[in-house]
Parts: sequence; C-alpha cells; structure tokens
Amino acid sequence: MDKQQAEGKINELKQQLEDYGYHYYVLDQPKVPDAEYDRLLQDLVQLEEQFPELASEDSPTMRIGGAPASAFKKVAHRVPMMSLSNAFSADDLRSFDRRVRQAVGDDVSYVCELKFDGLAVSLTYENGLLVRGATRGDGTTGEEITGNLRTVPSIPLRLKKPVSIEVRGEAYMPKQSFEKLNEVREEAGEEKFANPRNAAAGSLRQLDPKIAAKRNLAMFAYSIGELSGKTLTTHYQGLSFLDELGFKVSKEATTCQTIDEVISFTEKWVENRHELPYEIDGIVIKVNSLEQHEALGFTAKSPRWATAFKFPAEEVVTTLHDIELNVGRTGVVTPTAILEPVVVAGTTVKRASLHNEDLIREKDVKLGDTVIVKKAGDIIPEIVGVLTEKRTGDEIDFHMPTECPECSSQLDRIEGEVALRCLNPKCPAQIREGLIHFVSRNAMNIDGLGEKVISQLFSHELIADVADLYTLNRDELLQLERMGEKSVDNLLDALQTSKENSLERLLFGLGIRFVGAKAAKTLAIEFDTMDKLRQASANELINVNEIGEKMADSIASYFEKPEVDELLGKLKKANVNMHYTGVKPTENDVKVNSPFSGKTIVLTGKLHHWNRKEAQEKIEALGGTVTGSVSKKTDLVIAGEDAGSKQKKAESLGIDIWTEEQFVQTMEDLD
Ligand code: NAD
Repeated sequence: MDKQQAEGKINELKQQLEDYGYHYYVLDQPKVPDAEYDRLLQDLVQLEEQFPELASEDSPTMRIGGAPASAFKKVAHRVPMMSLSNAFSADDLRSFDRRVRQAVGDDVSYVCELKFDGLAVSLTYENGLLVRGATRGDGTTGEEITGNLRTVPSIPLRLKKPVSIEVRGEAYMPKQSFEKLNEVREEAGEEKFANPRNAAAGSLRQLDPKIAAKRNLAMFAYSIGELSGKTLTTHYQGLSFLDELGFKVSKEATTCQTIDEVISFTEKWVENRHELPYEIDGIVIKVNSLEQHEALGFTAKSPRWATAFKFPAEEVVTTLHDIELNVGRTGVVTPTAILEPVVVAGTTVKRASLHNEDLIREKDVKLGDTVIVKKAGDIIPEIVGVLTEKRTGDEIDFHMPTECPECSSQLDRIEGEVALRCLNPKCPAQIREGLIHFVSRNAMNIDGLGEKVISQLFSHELIADVADLYTLNRDELLQLERMGEKSVDNLLDALQTSKENSLERLLFGLGIRFVGAKAAKTLAIEFDTMDKLRQASANELINVNEIGEKMADSIASYFEKPEVDELLGKLKKANVNMHYTGVKPTENDVKVNSPFSGKTIVLTGKLHHWNRKEAQEKIEALGGTVTGSVSKKTDLVIAGEDAGSKQKKAESLGIDIWTEEQFVQTMEDLD
C-alpha cells in the first residue's frame, strides 16, 4: 500500500471507529461487536506504525473512552484514568512479559484479575466519607455521577477507616438483573439493552438517581488512584487494603510468579467465564510491585505495567452467503445460514441457525448481508443481527418455500407455531432424521450407524423405516461404501444387542413428539409394556406424574395411527423387546435411601462410563440435583479424567470428591 492509499484507508478507519465509539461510549448502544471494533482499531494501529507521519493526535488509537456527556458536571481526574493495552494470545502475553523484564529485570511477579465488563468509575473519599463519584470519560475528564453511584449497594458511603483515598473500580450489572431489566423493558415496549455493560453504563448516566437505584448495580474495586497517609508496596496489598476498607474486591485476584502461571490463569477463565454471575471479557494482568510501576511508566494511552488479555470473541462479523433449508425429524423446516467461515469463541463457524421465517423477518436478514454471529459457551451459533449500513444494494430478500424442499408436499404452518412443517409422514428427510434419532446414544444406542451409512441405506432403498434396520443382512450391508467385513459384523452385533434394550429406549427412539428420554423412562416404569401403554387413554396418561396434557395428547394420537400399528408389528416380529427391564424403583428406595437424595452434585472432567447427560439423569432419578459450578452448597463432586479447577475448588472447600469408579460402583451396587 502506498502512502496515498494508506491515507485514504486511515481516514476511513478513523471515521468508522469514531462513529462506533460514539454509539458505544456516548449512546450506550454499540453498533458492532467489540471484536469488530478491536479488529478495525488494530488495523489502524498497524497503518499508523507503518506510516508514522500519518498518525495524528485525534486518532482513536490515541484516545481513551468517549467524551463526557454535557448533561453532567465535568470532573477532572487528578490521576488520569487510562486504558489498557491488549493481548489476544499466549504469545502476546509472553511479549508483554519480555518487555517488562527488559525494563525492570527478572524479579517480577504479577497479579491476575478478572476483567469485569462494566464501566470504570472513580470514587473520592475524604476522611472516609464518599464525596464524589465519576465516570472515566475521556480519561482526563469524566462525568460527575455521585448521586447515582451512592445508590449502588456495594459502594460504601463511609469507609471502615477515616482515610482520604481515590478508588477505582468497575460498576457492572449482574447477568440476572440484566435479564430481568430487559424483560421489563420488552413488556413496556422499550428498547432492550444490548448487553449488561451498556445497561450498567446507561443506568449510571441517568439524571434521576431513582432509576439507577432500581437497577441492581454492583461494583468491584480494583485499584487505588491516590492515597494519603499510607504507603503500599504492592498492587496486591492495595487490593487487600480496599477489602479492609469495606469495598467489594474480587476473590479471584491471584498473584502469579511466572508468565506460564499467568497463561494458565487465562486458560482457566476462558473455560469457566460463563459460570460467573456477571460478565467478564478478559483477564487484567498487572505487575505487582508498585516501585516497578514507577519504573515502567505509561504510553500515551495505557500503563506499561499492565495488559488486558481479551477472551476469544463470542460475537463476530461475517458474510451470509446463502440460506439452506433442512427438514427435521418432526417435519419442521429450519433455515440455516451458510456463512463465510469465521472464528467464533475459538472455533471456525460456517453455519448458523436462523430458527424460522419470523426471525429472518424480525432481524431483516438478506442473502449477501454482513451479519453478526454469536456463539457463547457450547451454544449453537446464531445470527444476532445485520449491519444494514454495510449493504450495497445487491442483497437479496429471502422467502421460505411453500413446498417441502425434500418431498415437495405443501408446507403447513400449524396454528400457534412459528415453524413451517412438512406433514407428509413418508417424507424422506423426516424418515432419515428419524432413523438418526432412533440409533442415537440415548435411544437404541446402535453403534456403527452414522449419518452417512443411514443415508446410503436409505438411498439404496434397503430401509424405509426403523424396523427395516432389523432385517438387514450381511450381503446388503457389504454393498455399502466403506463397510468392510468387520464393520458389518460389528453393526449386526450392535443391532442384535439393541433388541434387548429396555422399553424406554425404544419409546424415546420412536420420536413421539414431546417425549424426551426422561418422560420415556417414566412411561416405561409406569406401564411396563408397550401394549399397556398403547391402550392408555390421554386421561390415564395425564394422571402419570410429570406427563402433561400436551404430551399425553401427542402419545395418544401417535398410537392411533395405522402406520404406527404396522411399525410396531414389524418391530415385534423382529423380536425387539417391548418391556421395561430396569429395576422398578419405589418412591422410597429411590429418592430417600439413595446416597444422592437431597444432595447437590457437580460433575466435572471427562466421564467414560456414562456421558454427562446420562450420569446427570441417573443422579436425578435417585433424588439428587446436578449443578454446574462448585460452591459451599455443593455436597459432592464427581471428578472424571482431567478434572481441573472445579476439583481444586472442591478440595479447597473441603467438599467430598469421588472418582468416576466410585460413582459407577455405587450405581451398580444400587441396581
Ligand atoms: P479496555 O478494554 O482497554 O480496558 C480498560 C478498562 O478495563 C478499564 O477502564 C476498566 O474499566 C476495565 N477493567 C475491568 N476490570 C478491570 C480490572 N480488574 N483492573 C483494571 N481495569 C479493569 O477498555 P477501554 O479503554 O474502554 O477499551 C475499549 C473497549 O471497549 C474494548 O473492549 C472495545 O472493544 C470496546 N469498544 C467497543 C465499541 C463497539 O462499538 N462495540 C466501541 C468502542 C469501544
């Protein structure tokens, strides 16, 4: 790129970032995900490094935060409230460590803290009394919001010691309060907040403190701006002092002696961040020694003694190329977005669910659009919005078809449902999906029948329904691609074994609407045989614990269908078991006498005997409750292979820990 092109690009990036910054900092309504803002900012940093003569004072790379809003009194910060440099990888953290050591030598330790996703505030106390609270603003001048900050319960109005101090912290909105607030706003027809950070910022920048008071805000204190009459030597001492003064200080702050320890800390939180009741967007790493802070100093924008490790982005921007339609096993036609591949939360995403046509309309998604894709934790990626300003005019409207993309039958919109449904019971897509479900782990658990094999069986017309699986012979299976003698023998064995399954697996595998694995088990225990269940009326079914009206109706009408009668006849002929063969537990021996009854249990690490879901179901059937995170309320932790932080936490809290073998043994003893 030559200088002239660079100048053009720099101006474009500056304008774009200014606009995004204005929406984020001033209006509390971000237009794009943080990762997109950070990516553009990184591009600008690089161009300014390459062409230093084009860098200017007014560049967003030189600015901290946004300008203070004029509605509030302005406060000058005696000690500037800086931004933080960023690290996006372990390599970036090692470079940071190298720079620190080059400046102050090898005797360095760090404090790792959670990077709370809220807004920075400054609190000034005189002789222990809160006299002023302000936002960071542009770092030099903030907005005076004392009245609003006084309403935040975790901000002490009077300290436990009569000191004069300026304290910095992050005001934030807990996830639960955020969800409740948005629910209320939605009901009232008001615009929802994009995320807890913007909700917190929006709440604190209200002119009427009564509004902030209702918003359930909190604040973590994380540093000291100014302090008179006391000398501290480390940052960690500062945190302990803030704790003594009565501030809420995060218990997760940890000192680390090496950069490897720092990296492990970041890795642990990449995994566990969603278990916190508030949002964090990274880890802040600070040199511990305050003397070393002095020696390291600041750049124009941020201290050299600290950096922020940013978590892999969970919301990113990409292009939507196409919308594909998939017919599920219940006939629902689901649109799926085909995306320009993009890394989200550490994995490459090529497809995202669009759920249904209403959602496509609501989000105004067109083919060719620039879209925001979100993936949090284990959740399937979804499209959260469109950057309409990026449209060129070439985007194409999308309409759902009126006919099934697989069998061309007329699609139906069932009353009260948003989904479009293919009602043809012979629709090949539904049958194929039904087969995939039938053989799945929680259903008939038939190994060796992956999606590809099923598709082949189907296209070779070797099967038309699930019962046909039991009439397959060796020669037929050997015709299929990539099916050698051994795989065929294994598959035939697996099919044979599956005939012995207890009734609940078959019931679940049949894919009756609304009947999940748990309900199937309840029904199998209650009715014992398929024949008795088939004879039960909807009324009798409703009387069974945990079976609701919708499920009862669905079961009753399922068994009325002539094709179901035929299917069950075929399964019976193939000697597929139709009895419940598990132990018949009574309420007492299950829930009261089990070692799990009334207990709160956490599963962690890799389990081999049962998967997580199965283990959870077993515990719940025995009266236990399975939760995701370890706390004082946890009674027992079952630790599989490579159990990490949860096991450590349980050890530190003195909670009982079992190995997987202990767990399996106990279960077997109960059988
Ligand atoms: P930053 O990411 O550089 O980090 C500095 C801030 O971290 C501090 O001001 C403080 O508020 C916070 N923090 C949280 N926990 C802390 C702790 N334990 N110790 C110290 N500080 C802690 O913040 P910034 O300067 O506001 O950077 C800009 C951020 O805002 C980026 O994440 C950027 O993506 C986002 N942004 C987004 C948009 C958008 O349109 N989406 C626009 C502008 C900025």
